[in-house]
Amino acid sequence: MRPPHQRAEVAKLLASGMSDGAAAHASGIPRATVRDWRRGGVEREAPTPTCPRCGGAQHDPLALDRRAYAYLLGLYLGDGHVVATRRGVYRLRIYVDGRHPRLAQRVVETMQLVLPSSRAGLIRHHTDHMLVASQYAKCWPCLLPQHGEGVKHERPIILDGWQDGIVDEHPDQLVRGLLHSDGWRGTNRVVVNGKTYNYGRYQFSNRSDDIRGLFCAALDRLDIPWRRMNRWNISVARGSAVATLDAFVEPKD
Ligand SMILES: [Zn+2]
Repeated sequence: MRPPHQRAEVAKLLASGMSDGAAAHASGIPRATVRDWRRGGVEREAPTPTCPRCGGAQHDPLALDRRAYAYLLGLYLGDGHVVATRRGVYRLRIYVDGRHPRLAQRVVETMQLVLPSSRAGLIRHHTDHMLVASQYAKCWPCLLPQHGEGVKHERPIILDGWQDGIVDEHPDQLVRGLLHSDGWRGTNRVVVNGKTYNYGRYQFSNRSDDIRGLFCAALDRLDIPWRRMNRWNISVARGSAVATLDAFVEPKD
């Protein structure tokens, strides 16, 4: 079967008044096919391409907002969940501490950039002081194939090739997303000869070896030195490294 865009192109040519022969010549499609399409009602709009896996509107990794996706992936790996709802629709939820309403708003905007076809929203969880950014779509398992049963640190978290490509292009955005979910920026206070000095420091904490591995690989790619503090914690403390992170990891606000 020919791709839908060819059908759409021929439809446009025929609609402009071209004969079968002229449309065939202009599009490079055999005349017999053009005639079949015209008889089959090709004048109507060609169907919207759908994803063969989930049946939702087609989501091409190359057509994604790749920068927004890298950030969303970091947020998801840190504090996100994909759950099945009804009729093949999934819900992506990303939890944000209630003290950071502007960060929560940015998370919603990022979801919207990655998936413009479905509306993202924000819910306040009064009980545990959390904000929940959420978006319903059929294709979350396609866009976030790390979706699975149980907690992330008890199953392997391995990126698909197309995700690797995006992370390779935007390692800073993956780091930003991971730090906005499972990281924080603190201060080391050092007293030397009675004088107090404050140094910025980033820390990232995640129980999944794979997710910490992704974080550290992205830091390596950015030439940012890091140190393993203990089993689950990674620290970035060297002055120039902290300054590099400060340039693209805005404070949680
Ligand atoms: Zn899909």
